[in-house]
Parts: sequence; C-alpha cells; structure tokens
Amino acid sequence: MPLYEYRCRTCKRRVTLLRSFTDTTTPHCPECDGEDLRRLVSRVSVVRSEESRLESLADPSSLAGLDESDPRSIARWMRKMSQETGEDMGPEFDEMVDRLEAGEDPEEIESSMGDLGEEGLGDYDL
Ligand SMILES: [Zn+2]
Repeated sequence: MPLYEYRCRTCKRRVTLLRSFTDTTTPHCPECDGEDLRRLVSRVSVVRSEESRLESLADPSSLAGLDESDPRSIARWMRKMSQETGEDMGPEFDEMVDRLEAGEDPEEIESSMGDLGEEGLGDYDL
C-alpha cells in the first residue's frame, strides 16, 4: 500500500497514512482523530504514476523489509519506489534519500526540508 501524506487542519500536524488504492473511507488523523485532512503530494509517496506501475507497487511484497524506524531501510525503499516508477523525483527526493542513508532522523529531515516543500511544489491539492 502506498503512503499518503496529509495535513490535518484540526491539529495542524502533517501525518502519513498507509492506505490502499481502493480504500474510499474518510481518513482519520492519527494524532487527534480529526477528519479534516488535506492530502499533500508527498516527496515520499508516489501518487501520480501510471496505474499498472501503481499495481506493482501496491503488491505487499514491495513493502517487505521496510522498517520505518530505520532511516536506511526507508531510504532503500524510497529508492526502490523511485526506480520502479521511473520518475524523476527531483533534487529534494535525492537529498532526502541521501540523508536517510546517512542515518539522519526522518523527522529532522522532514522539519528541515518541510518549509521548502510547502512553499513550492510539495503542497497542493490533487
Ligand atoms: Zn489532527
């Protein structure tokens, strides 16, 4: 299942949810249980790819071995996602993967890069 990033308008947090493509239920904020979530185009998520590619990514085995508490594991997974979609994810993506591979805390990377993304391409409604 792909990761989707949302901005919760209730508690103003940025939250990441793992959702299936066919899940049409209203997402709930894991922090405050609010329903007023606005979907972000995430540097982590791959949401604009062709359907056939998305189906291969939706295969649970593509997430096998992902340890979200291990930055290097996330970096490997992000590279794999990027390679499978064949999309140029942009310099921010590369920087993020590099920093994850260096063992940096994903939260810190997010907070140091987050403002850039919100001013630019990283934050618009689909
Ligand atoms: Zn919330």
